Amino acid sequence: MLAAVLIMLLLWLVSGALLASLALTLAGFVVWLYYRLACLEAWLERGTKLSEVYDDRGIFAEIIRHLYHQRKIHSRRKKRTKDIIRRLHRNIAALPDATILLNDQLEIEWSNAPAQYLLGIDQRQDIGQRISNLIRHPEFLRYLISPDNKEQIELESPIDNSSTLQIKIVRFGRNQRLVSARNISDQKQLQESLKNFVANASHELKTPLTTISGHLEMLSDEKHLSKSGRKSVKAASQQSRRMQRLINDLLLLSQVESYQLQPNEGVRTSLAEIMANVSTAVDSNCNDGVLSCTYPENLALLCIKAEVESICINLVDNAIKYSAEGNAEIQLQWFENDRGECVLKVTDHGIGISERDLPYITERYFRGSHSLTATVTGSGLGLAIVKQAAAKHGATLSVNSRLNQGSTFTVTFPSYRTLHKDSKQDNIVHLAQL
Ligand code: ADP
Repeated sequence: MLAAVLIMLLLWLVSGALLASLALTLAGFVVWLYYRLACLEAWLERGTKLSEVYDDRGIFAEIIRHLYHQRKIHSRRKKRTKDIIRRLHRNIAALPDATILLNDQLEIEWSNAPAQYLLGIDQRQDIGQRISNLIRHPEFLRYLISPDNKEQIELESPIDNSSTLQIKIVRFGRNQRLVSARNISDQKQLQESLKNFVANASHELKTPLTTISGHLEMLSDEKHLSKSGRKSVKAASQQSRRMQRLINDLLLLSQVESYQLQPNEGVRTSLAEIMANVSTAVDSNCNDGVLSCTYPENLALLCIKAEVESICINLVDNAIKYSAEGNAEIQLQWFENDRGECVLKVTDHGIGISERDLPYITERYFRGSHSLTATVTGSGLGLAIVKQAAAKHGATLSVNSRLNQGSTFTVTFPSYRTLHKDSKQDNIVHLAQL
């Protein structure tokens, strides 16, 4: 700047024209500035290396220093982030579970080695492919677009039908997804052997237990039995009846789990036939309250009758068991919804189910934490039977419950199981006045 002023003064002195000297000096200054900026731009382009700094004086030297400093901080951060990502990739790659990252278009961004041998996703070739083109299982596709992050599904491996995979999809960031798959074939096999063992043991126990019960019944009719002997026989009979119920439940559970019904499999059974047997079974168990049943007379189900009856009996039995005294108003309703599905609803106003217990109530042997549950006899198998029998018929079970206010259990049978007779009149029956 000082040099420019001096040059201008010199020009003025030599030429005597102030304005022309000023204009000439300014033009020269602009050209010089442009040259320095071009040098700066070239230095930035070359990667801001310290060894290539072309000027270390004046305002440009300050700018270069700041830029160099910022660049250094930025590259240090970049290196650290790269290290973290590399370490993360190494860790995820070492996981035994298949892991796949999907972008918001459901295209594969990254996958690890187990994804190759569990799901057949190639770590290099399949990057950028839509996952729905590679895994076409309908349940997987439904789960992929479902907004629910909580559930997880079990699938046959797409590359080995003897392996079962447990798949979990988690959404993160901007609609990205992390898919993880674990091989649970060993666990499945163990569960299967356990189920087979329980089914076989129950089967073997059934006959001796029936004989014991028969003998106990004969003994209880014995006239010469002492008072204490009669008491013992009564207690033994009670326990053997309890064991018989448990064994029957275990056998029924293994029967409903044995296979899945095809859509056209089953026997046409009117709701009236089902309800006739349900009313007989629950009538003997009801001691308190009122149970009312409603069903359209024209409706029938394509089903296994004994299994649908057992769904109704278990739900009504529970409704009665878990209703506080004097509050046992129970409704059993059958109706056809607007999608043509046959729906069974059992509603009580009893103790309800806590939020903590709700996710577990259909697990086998689970018993609720409510104090009333401790005083009520049960095996924790009733709802497991209901869920499995419903699933076998392609039906779904849902539960709506509030603590101390009551519960509603809904079983929805698919429309292909709903059959009609000509008459459309509803039949309302009060099964038991209690
Ligand atoms: P169990 O009745 O033999 O305990 P279930 O499988 O039928 O076994 O039920 C599991 C648990 O679910 C029960 O222990 C109880 O805590 C809860 N439950 C089931 N039905 C009801 C109901 N209608 N009201 C309140 N709790 C219920």
